[in-house]
Amino acid sequence: MIPLKNKSLYKTQCYVNGEWRNSNSGDRINVYNPYSKELVGTVPDMGAAECKEAIESAHAAFQTWKDYSAGERSQILRKWFELQMENIDDLANILTIEQGKPLAEAKGEIRYGASFVEWFAEEAKRVYGDVIPGHGRDKRITVIKQPIGVVAAITPWNFPNAMITRKVAPALAAGCTVVIKPSELTPLSALALAELAEQAGFPKGVLNIITTDDAPSVGQAMTSHSKVKKVSFTGSTKVGKILLKQCADSVKKVSMELGGNAPFIVFDDADIDAAVEGAIASKFRNAGQTCVCSNRIFAQEGIYEEFVNKLAIAVKDLQLGDGLKEGINIGPLIEPKALSFVEKVVDNARTNGATILTGGKVSKVNDLIYEPTIVTNATTDMMVFREEIFGPVAPVFKFKTESEVIEMANDTPYGLASYFYGRDYARIWRVSEGLEYGMVGINTGMISTTVAPFGGIKESGFGREGSKYGIEDFVNIKYMCWGGVE
Ligand code: ADP
Repeated sequence: MIPLKNKSLYKTQCYVNGEWRNSNSGDRINVYNPYSKELVGTVPDMGAAECKEAIESAHAAFQTWKDYSAGERSQILRKWFELQMENIDDLANILTIEQGKPLAEAKGEIRYGASFVEWFAEEAKRVYGDVIPGHGRDKRITVIKQPIGVVAAITPWNFPNAMITRKVAPALAAGCTVVIKPSELTPLSALALAELAEQAGFPKGVLNIITTDDAPSVGQAMTSHSKVKKVSFTGSTKVGKILLKQCADSVKKVSMELGGNAPFIVFDDADIDAAVEGAIASKFRNAGQTCVCSNRIFAQEGIYEEFVNKLAIAVKDLQLGDGLKEGINIGPLIEPKALSFVEKVVDNARTNGATILTGGKVSKVNDLIYEPTIVTNATTDMMVFREEIFGPVAPVFKFKTESEVIEMANDTPYGLASYFYGRDYARIWRVSEGLEYGMVGINTGMISTTVAPFGGIKESGFGREGSKYGIEDFVNIKYMCWGGVE
């Protein structure tokens, strides 16, 4: 179905305990190309029973994987990284075909995803403890970090590859074992990663992937199982809250990467051309379907007209179409439900008096492509201000003062990414400190990198992925108090 150089990457079975398996019921899920609507594969529709088996095998594998030396774990992770890079073209093809993003972006995601595996292959060797001066003459105190145990990871469709590696690489590096449930909309990228993990030589049961059309049942099986010690989730705030409640019963460690409502602020003294470039990158990447996409653009009154005009010119250059074709910038939204929501948000702005400067409708190119849209005269009571749009729609708000814009930017339950453009260094500090967000992009619209801690505050969640902090989410701290050292 998918043209691949390495045919072994087209997997239509799940990977449990080192075996490729179908569901107990034999039921399957259809996977479609959102651009062409073609059926591109089917995968098993597993349920709670298979999920429990995967957890049991991950638990059994943990007993030995945790005792591998850091160097041994590192070598296997390194091999997995190399295989991903060797197969980048195929992995990107699978990703574009099941998800819709332009091929260049898909390749970028594979590189980004693999970079976590490379990084944590290295970090595996640096899970240092401490020696603390004791609290008595005969006392010595040592601190060690130990892998938590079985990790359940639930991941979304907008980054079908990187959201898996960003969780799984640090977990495996720390000595944990994993059960992954990818999105039912993009399971093929996940299963291709499992194939490469098998080739890299992870022992059976260390990495398990199950696919399902019944996410609530599998989520319940994961959160209620006593052998799962950590749940790491990336997805909507709505589902994150459900999982948090479910995890409370057995007091599991959790990491939550949830929704965002990123402000993108342009001050009067900004480099306007750079700000336009940053806005295009952060707003329209993946057709606006990322949790760090700028959601609300604020332009100061002195440069408002110039910024909006230049943004409109840049938006007209974006090429819409099939992500597999060269030169495409905007592909389809993931499914009709997503498109309806974007239409609702724009209609809400329109009927409440906003101006639709460009776009504002479904493209003629494809019924799931929404035209890149700029909304002006938007106000804070509109859905474009309150909701995470998750589509190529950029509302631009005018502001007068720094304090006013910080207040508007923070006026949301979310706190993931934020961006601003300006050159006054004192203001850069003030605004960076004033924004209630886990991440701040200063004069840049691209902030995601392996080497920095990705994560949010407020209802965008907690936990950090990537960087030297990323592995901390997968270890327990244990301290040993030595007495009688005379
Ligand atoms: P999005 O809005 O981006 O699709 P979701 O939060 O709905 O985000 O989905 C993210 C992931 O969470 C997907 O893998 C999806 O299957 C899964 N999911 C959805 N509902 C539940 C649930 N009740 N319990 C566990 N996982 C769920």
